[in-house]
Amino acid sequence: MDADALISCGAMTLQFVAEYWRSIEKRPVVANVQPGYLRELLPIEAPEKAESFSSIINDLESTIMPGVTHWHSPNFYAYFPTAVSYPAICADILSGGIACIGFSWIASPACTELEAIVMDWLAKAMGLPEFFLSTGNGGGIIQGTASEATIVALLAARSRIFNEKKAKDPTLTLGRLLDQLVVYCSDQAHSSVDKAALIVGCRLRKIVSDSDCVMHGEQVEAAIAEDRAQGLIPFFLVGTLGTTPTCAFDDLVTVGRVCEKEHIWMHIDAAYAGNAFICPEYQHLLNGIEYAESFDFNPHKWMLVNFDCSAMYLKDRTHFIDAFNVDPLYLKHSFQSSAPDYRHWQIPLGRRFRSLKLWFVFRAFGLDGLRSYIRKHIQLGEHFTKLINKDERFEVVFPAATQLGLICFRLKNTPNELNERLLKALNDDKRIYLVPSMVKQKFILRFAICSWLTEEKHIEFAWNVIDQVATKLLLSK
Ligand SMILES: *Cc1c(COP(=O)(O)O)cnc(C)c1O
Repeated sequence: MDADALISCGAMTLQFVAEYWRSIEKRPVVANVQPGYLRELLPIEAPEKAESFSSIINDLESTIMPGVTHWHSPNFYAYFPTAVSYPAICADILSGGIACIGFSWIASPACTELEAIVMDWLAKAMGLPEFFLSTGNGGGIIQGTASEATIVALLAARSRIFNEKKAKDPTLTLGRLLDQLVVYCSDQAHSSVDKAALIVGCRLRKIVSDSDCVMHGEQVEAAIAEDRAQGLIPFFLVGTLGTTPTCAFDDLVTVGRVCEKEHIWMHIDAAYAGNAFICPEYQHLLNGIEYAESFDFNPHKWMLVNFDCSAMYLKDRTHFIDAFNVDPLYLKHSFQSSAPDYRHWQIPLGRRFRSLKLWFVFRAFGLDGLRSYIRKHIQLGEHFTKLINKDERFEVVFPAATQLGLICFRLKNTPNELNERLLKALNDDKRIYLVPSMVKQKFILRFAICSWLTEEKHIEFAWNVIDQVATKLLLSK
């Protein structure tokens, strides 16, 4: 442990990352290795003797890099983006360097206080309702992932309903209640909702979305009535703003009204699309958020903050403290007036100093810079849409997605099988990378603008690759 070593080894590491960024476009976008490739390259036991840092760094290019898929290559259009920026990386170095564990205020006051401040900044920039600010009964917390946020919200909702039912029937056990509880989400919701219901042990009912993949209140209301008639207890619903397959937005206004009337906790998962709300022109998509108990999105997807940074907002933090407070002697009212102890708002005890990277990114780019970044990706998506629309062989499907940098397309009036072959041919070609989705029985290709390095010329390049590969495929048909 040596401060001088940190400086020299840190410089070598940063040099490596800088060279990586400079060369990323020339690297094959998807790793071209077979499972188990690394076992053949590394020793079977850990080294007995210490090795020099430079020899470790020198092995990266020959062992690790061949097995990396380059998410920041301008030829990467798969999944959704994951964010990266130099201020966020530097802040993560600081988090590692300070290495405190901020589970309670006293464990590192700056860690808690900075988090509350930057989460308030973020909420204000996005036009979220005031009840999510830490100055009232709510507040923001950085969770690791959107999946964790869903589980945390679900557990808090389960605790709320249990406490309410138990007040009326003191003999009630959680086991007995669990048998009756029902969670709702759209058939387009992310698989993390299935996982959350599985972990918490509740049955999950999927609501059929409309032909544009939107979930509406009417269908939710009908499902709830059916379930209540069976003696079940509806208590939690996940609404999605920007679904993973097609970036569809659930109709939060009608769904939210039903949730309010039926006393159901509405959690909003806006993992990807939520980032766009820092631009005022997209804030209307938040309509209905006033019915939500909790809201989450991932700055680590699209707001230049490296993984992990999932921004979760709570309307009433006492539900979380009730659910996760493992110290029964803890006095709730003394808590209310002081700073939050974030350990009561999350599953683990330990937590990193993640607010540093939000703080650095806000200051290094400004809200103005963050908005430009989002708008640029949206414009690149519009450019790709134009190119697809100009070609008669193709069609853009679920066009609502195109407004936020995701384009779903397929070969017009063709069977799924041909589109599957097109995707396979594109990924075999290896110049660009995209992933498919199956939506409403349609096999579609998803083109997500992902890299911070992507420019219009890369979009033109990607389109030329798609054009060539499709031409070859259609000729050989
Ligand atoms: C990406 C995504 C998730 C999962 O995010 P994690 O932070 O990896 O858990 C959840 N929901 C939606 C809508 C997503 O797009």
